[in-house]
Amino acid sequence: MTKAIRIHAPGGPEVLRWEDVPTPEPGPGEVLIRHAAVGLNFIDVYFRTGLYKTALPAILGMEASGTVAALGDDVRGFVVGDRVAYATAPIGAYATERVLAADRVVKLPDGIDFNTAAAMMLQGLTAQYLLRRTYKVQAGETIVVHAAAGGVGLILCQWAKHLGASVIGVVSTSEKAELARSHGADHVVVGHADLVAEVKRITGGAMVPVVYDSVGKDTFMASIDSLAPLGMMVSYGNASGPVGAVDVGLLGAKGSLFLTRPSLATYTAKRADLERGANELFDVVTKGVVEIRVNQTFALKDAAAAHEALEARRTTGSTILLP
Ligand code: NDP
Repeated sequence: MTKAIRIHAPGGPEVLRWEDVPTPEPGPGEVLIRHAAVGLNFIDVYFRTGLYKTALPAILGMEASGTVAALGDDVRGFVVGDRVAYATAPIGAYATERVLAADRVVKLPDGIDFNTAAAMMLQGLTAQYLLRRTYKVQAGETIVVHAAAGGVGLILCQWAKHLGASVIGVVSTSEKAELARSHGADHVVVGHADLVAEVKRITGGAMVPVVYDSVGKDTFMASIDSLAPLGMMVSYGNASGPVGAVDVGLLGAKGSLFLTRPSLATYTAKRADLERGANELFDVVTKGVVEIRVNQTFALKDAAAAHEALEARRTTGSTILLP
């Protein structure tokens, strides 16, 4: 048997149950991975609450690191004992072991330990595609990053700084402001009420070419109003709730803006894109350009406490769950 955190119905953190489930067997093209560490992500909350739908009962989680424990038929490129990690659908990472298509798994370089890997795969691959593909940030540009002291946020700040950009981070407390500043944010705005005025002041009225907004409902309009003409609104999360319907005419009225709602699944659907993104991420982390801050560690069986902390905005950086 394998131990896993399962939900039988959507709800609050109390629906997360530590249960015995049968150890899965890898089918053709699949590997069995013995998890060393599991990553906690805000998307896990969306699946738990039912905002994102799944068949029930369900094992949550989309990210982990560990060791290949068995191979199904027709698996090439992996052997038992390989150190690996992943960030992908389908959900099922909150378990001591799981099977996954080998195509979705990458080998870890020696310089990256299991805890760091579990903390960085989903948030780091997200930062990679946001900065390098959704909108290619250029040296000298000023950009806005919401939830700048969070998991994705701290990686975005450091990586954008490395690309030569100037970062305006948005956070909710002065402690988080300090953390964002020490990870590359040049300016930090506490609360989004003053965001537009602050962006105007910092950019001398030019406003910014891109806003990375993971907060959603609460910040959408402030983000739109922070953009320069032809700017790109990247709405990539809903920590405060989904944005809802948008009047397309608004984009014209606000300066011929672009709006995208990207997801990591699309950007890593092709194996070549997954490998390219992972290699870029491994490169910036092993060189020390991006430090992965594992600021909270919970036992996997205590996933409910981890969810409570994440939803209550008590976490900073990344959080891992240890099986
Ligand atoms: P974070 O560590 O960033 O935690 C969420 C943060 O959002 C909080 O710490 C808080 O920061 C901020 N926040 C603002 N309003 C709220 C609210 N009402 N409730 C809770 N938090 C709020 O999480 P992750 O790094 O795991 O994820 C960041 C975001 O990126 C999430 O929205 C997630 O869904 C999204 N995401 C999207 C992906 C994609 O491909 N589209 C992939 C990965 C993540 P503060 O207190 O400073 O405001």
